[in-house]
Amino acid sequence: MEHSVKKPMISLNGDLSAYSHEELLQYVARLKSENQQLKEKKEHKILDLKANLEAVIENTDDFIVSVDTSYRILVCNSAYRWLIHELYGADPQAGDHILGIMDPQTQAFWLPYYQKAFEGQSGLAIVEREIQGLTRHYEVSFHPIKQNTTQVDGATLFIKDITDRKIVEDTIRENQKMLASINRNIKEGIYRSTPQEGLVYVNKAFLEMFGYESKEEMYNLKSNVLYSDPGRRQELLDLIDARKEFTNEEVLYRRKDGSTFYGMTSGLMWVDEGGNLYFDGAIRDMTDIIEAEHQLREQNEELKKVNAELDRFVYSTSHDLRAPLMSISGLISISKMVDDQDKQNYYYDLMEQSIQKLDNFIKDIINFSRNARTEVELKPIDVNQLIHQCKEDLQFASQYERIRFGITIEGGTTIYSDSKRLGVILKNLLANAANYHDLSKEDPFIQINLINKEKSFQIAVQDNGQGIKDHLADKIFDMFYRASNQSKGTGLGLYIAKEATEKLKGKIRVETEYGVGSTFYVEIPQKKNDSVKENLKVEE
Ligand code: ADP
Repeated sequence: MEHSVKKPMISLNGDLSAYSHEELLQYVARLKSENQQLKEKKEHKILDLKANLEAVIENTDDFIVSVDTSYRILVCNSAYRWLIHELYGADPQAGDHILGIMDPQTQAFWLPYYQKAFEGQSGLAIVEREIQGLTRHYEVSFHPIKQNTTQVDGATLFIKDITDRKIVEDTIRENQKMLASINRNIKEGIYRSTPQEGLVYVNKAFLEMFGYESKEEMYNLKSNVLYSDPGRRQELLDLIDARKEFTNEEVLYRRKDGSTFYGMTSGLMWVDEGGNLYFDGAIRDMTDIIEAEHQLREQNEELKKVNAELDRFVYSTSHDLRAPLMSISGLISISKMVDDQDKQNYYYDLMEQSIQKLDNFIKDIINFSRNARTEVELKPIDVNQLIHQCKEDLQFASQYERIRFGITIEGGTTIYSDSKRLGVILKNLLANAANYHDLSKEDPFIQINLINKEKSFQIAVQDNGQGIKDHLADKIFDMFYRASNQSKGTGLGLYIAKEATEKLKGKIRVETEYGVGSTFYVEIPQKKNDSVKENLKVEE
């Protein structure tokens, strides 16, 4: 292009008289040509932009349509045309009325959205449509086409198929619901921790397991406090370091209140995309399992004991039952052969003794069986009355009348226990104290001392009788054990006393010296409930 005019730019205020007419005409012509070129350039650019826009509209996954304010289609992409064809069997073109292709009900649904857009506001609708037999979900957004801030020329609709997104969202929501439910109902304590922050997540079971009120309270804890032995925590961290995970490790944990419990623990370490380190794990409270194991072991021991006792029982019963029967049968044969009444009476006395022995044996067996089978029944007992009752029941033989009885009671006469079992214990101890007495002593006595304490009571039955040889003292509580040839009993008395004491969660022991005497101590726990305390008040 020629730039012959080198003079300053002509402006309306400039001095045109400085230019010749020719020069001015040339200048105007050049301006015209420049203007034409600019116009062509601009049109080109607009065409380019339009082509670009059309390409974008065509290549997007969205369904796009623009309408003017009289609902006439300005432009739409082929995706939109396909959609309308699938929905209404129509082929929309520029200039068509956009609502004309729909039934009145659908028109009524969409009309407010168009009106809102024509008023200058955007809108959004989510709809469900059946396409080729499948339910699809669409998000339809309305945007006003504005020339300036006040004038709206029409509206553009972007329709997105959000079916896949909705499926993913629904799945996530379902999964979240399921996870929340699992977390709520699972018995395992689940946690996540990080090296910097400690615990960052715990579930409800975890919270309850450790006895804390809120998750936040746990998140502020130093992890160490949850372990009974912090060394054990280090061991677990070392395991994680070495193997990245561990399974079913038994760990003794500490609750908020300081009590402890065993938890079966599994954990693993992992790193997310951002390089953050996490420890995830689960703890199962083992208290119940350990308790059940304990119980099983105890039951097993008990069974073994019962088995051994049964063996001994069968052996001794056959002997203890047969011996008196045999002797009765022998005595009957002899008495048949004699006519002398005195002799016969003597044999009857012997028979009576054998029968008494049998009866004692049977009574002992009944006591033993009762102790094993009946429930413990705890009630307030007047212990003074009980001791006297036992003494009377024993109906000591006349030679025992020489034995001096003493009773002392400390701390009130009301105790809280099982009167039947306590009676059996007392009777056995009193019977032995009398049976194994030494009447040759100057002052033969049986002294019963009861100490009634708040949480237990102790009964001591002391005699100055024969005493027991040291090496036999341990065995006298065994089943069928007789420590002296003088024993006319079954060897069951102390065994039953011990069993009954243990049933009442108490202890029995003996202090004895051969030739000097014995003291049997029975210590039984008791719970004085209100009724017992009232009872005590009445007495005092
Ligand atoms: P039993 O009296 O029927 O033989 P027990 O089980 O009651 O059986 O007692 C076991 C043994 O302990 C007795 O045989 C006896 O030798 C001894 N014994 C028990 N009580 C006393 C006592 N107070 N003084 C001395 N010996 C006793």
